[in-house]
Amino acid sequence: MKISQMLKGAERPYPSIEIVPPLKGVTKAELLDSIRPFMEFNPPFVNVTTHRDEFEFLPQADGSFRRALVRKRVSETAVCAAIQSEFKIEVVPHVICGGASREVIESQLHDFQFLGVENLLALRGDCITGEKRFVPDPDGYTYASELVGAIAAFSKARGHSFCVGVGAYPEKHFEAPNLETDIENLKKKVDAGADYVVTQMFFDNKVFYEFCDKCRAAGITVPIIPGLKPLSSARQLELLPEAFSIDIPLELTNEIKAHADDRAACYRIGTEWCSAQCRDLLAHGFKTVHFYTMGKADNIVEILRDNF
Ligand code: FAD
Repeated sequence: MKISQMLKGAERPYPSIEIVPPLKGVTKAELLDSIRPFMEFNPPFVNVTTHRDEFEFLPQADGSFRRALVRKRVSETAVCAAIQSEFKIEVVPHVICGGASREVIESQLHDFQFLGVENLLALRGDCITGEKRFVPDPDGYTYASELVGAIAAFSKARGHSFCVGVGAYPEKHFEAPNLETDIENLKKKVDAGADYVVTQMFFDNKVFYEFCDKCRAAGITVPIIPGLKPLSSARQLELLPEAFSIDIPLELTNEIKAHADDRAACYRIGTEWCSAQCRDLLAHGFKTVHFYTMGKADNIVEILRDNF
């Protein structure tokens, strides 16, 4: 079933979760066991992230090193197939522009059509390690809006219509000169055919509500799904803003800092903050809340138990 239909027909709120494909060597059974705890809450779909191959220097017989592109994780396609067959729920593979030519992306779409996948999240993708700015494949797409257009063209040509989501940034994408321009660019993705929007994680619901108001004022009418992640350690006060260009509110920062030496207390504070955010979003009428699991289940399971 398409997410656009789920969002229209939802009688009660439900969570969605995002998982990261495991590193090579993890078994299918281990992957499925890591997802199983979420199934108690009947998420109707699971997002599966996609990661570019990374450069590594491989030692050679003569003592030199060869720079090679290496895939560190199991492919999103394999993970989607495993989840579909085990849990009989919808999967949402992320399709990224980075590191892929148009032909490679078209082949991925054929694989997803073959698997009966109905929903995709179309993204530009992150930079590869060592790159300061995103460099598109010479025969690829520069912006997610182009990818959305290509998926729409594929759907038309192949008679298999994908429902397409796109990413958005309540605190603006780090490369955009300002939030208004970023929202104009978000609208280009919707105009190219995106059916819904999923946001980057945020820790202040007020910022998210203001973002939604600005999107609506800019003529973006598709559903906006809020994305949450519970903070789980004092170290994440630095790591999350650095990795995702987001703010952590002063109140949460101070609470965590006051317990910086107590791991369990930080975990509790982060979980309770996120649970309160989720409660508030549901009270504001949002039917779906998206959780970034990043391979960790316990705190999110607790939040889902509190709220769904
Ligand atoms: P775009 O929408 O292309 O925007 C990128 C930048 O270009 C923005 O600053 C935007 O304002 C600007 N821009 C857009 N269109 C134009 C235009 N026509 N002209 C000028 N400027 C323009 N990354 C991964 O590698 N794998 C994942 O699985 C993954 N999953 C994600 C899931 C979610 C929900 C989100 C929010 C992000 C995810 N990311 C993932 C990260 C994402 O790939 C990065 O944030 C990336 O830097 C931007 O991707 P985008 O699709 O938002 O890009």
